[in-house]
Amino acid sequence: MFISSSISIEDQHRITTCELNMPRRLLLGPGPCNVHPRVLSAIGAPQVGHLDPSFLELMDEIQELLRYTWQTDNALTLAISGTGSAAMEATLANMVEPEDVVLVGVKGYFGNRLVDMASRYGADVRTINQIWGQPFTFEEIEKALEEHRPKILALVHAETSTGVRQPMEGIGDLCHKYDCLLLVDTVTSLGAVPLFLDHWKIDLAYSCSQKGLGCPPGIAPFTMSSRAVEKLEKRKSKVGNWYLDMNLLTKYWGNERVYHHTAPINMNYALREALRLVAEEGLAHRWDRHRGNAELLWEGLGEIGLKCYVPMNYRLPTITTVLIPDGVDGKIVPRKLLHEYNIEIGGGLGDLAGKVWRIGLMGYNSRKENVVLLLGALERVLHDIGFKK
Ligand code: PLP
Repeated sequence: MFISSSISIEDQHRITTCELNMPRRLLLGPGPCNVHPRVLSAIGAPQVGHLDPSFLELMDEIQELLRYTWQTDNALTLAISGTGSAAMEATLANMVEPEDVVLVGVKGYFGNRLVDMASRYGADVRTINQIWGQPFTFEEIEKALEEHRPKILALVHAETSTGVRQPMEGIGDLCHKYDCLLLVDTVTSLGAVPLFLDHWKIDLAYSCSQKGLGCPPGIAPFTMSSRAVEKLEKRKSKVGNWYLDMNLLTKYWGNERVYHHTAPINMNYALREALRLVAEEGLAHRWDRHRGNAELLWEGLGEIGLKCYVPMNYRLPTITTVLIPDGVDGKIVPRKLLHEYNIEIGGGLGDLAGKVWRIGLMGYNSRKENVVLLLGALERVLHDIGFKK
């Protein structure tokens, strides 16, 4: 027992709590989603050191499986110890030098986050804006590149706040024509929506673990093309973020294996298992599965009298925004789904707050039985609150 004449131990914060007993929810919101049982059990595998040869081998496997999932040959492909926002910040921290013109396409909440982050690294940030719920056209992007001549164009491929997919075909060629790097947020598309990083000439991309990959949050895929690495090597100023500096991180993830920070070992186990599941299923099947289950959802929503916010052509299979019908209290439906059916869906963000609900079918959760369960519960809740289609 610690005894000191001058200091006594205070017990006021020493609460007694029960054993962990979390509710079992079906997570059909914008993420996180439920985790595949194999991913969950991988987390509990025996702990090794972060420089253990077996862990170094696992890191190599993660890098290779990420290349498959993104369809890229980028040598600099790794997992950031942090959530999607950390990987998002890593792209900007490494690329932006003070005064660099960064053009951000804002068509939702996460475009604005890119603007905020880029400005914190001293970028001269310019924006093009689109109505929340629509993608940019090729012509709008070309016009903005012509006008702003940026060093980096940043776009969100799958805007989680709106449910819109930004078509990427041809944009990489435009970026080459205007001599700028293409940075793309693939947080709500990786592992679920067609992505061809190299074919689309994307230079920088990041994602998260808790959506299409079906893993818990806390580890985030990141990749950079050789064009982007060239810009990094030519920097005149130091990368403004020590934790996310690729000059240091590649010494840990590359051949040198130099300690940088203590990697979250078990989260890397989880990510490896999630990526192994992607490779086992194959991308074509996985993308088809997500599309098929989303179509089942859209059809069922129509049958119970609800409308999707985004036109079919640009609708993401991972996240569906559903218009809250006139006269319905937007907050009561998610609340009843959670408390009466243990199902989580999301509300609207930013401009769409109070206007839409967001339903996610991602990774392990993109399954027919979940769609049917949700539709049944939703119909019941709507009936209970007196909604008539
Ligand atoms: N970008 C998009 C499109 C997102 O949907 C999210 C999170 O939902 C993020 C970035 C940030 O990721 P995280 O919440 O894992 O930090």
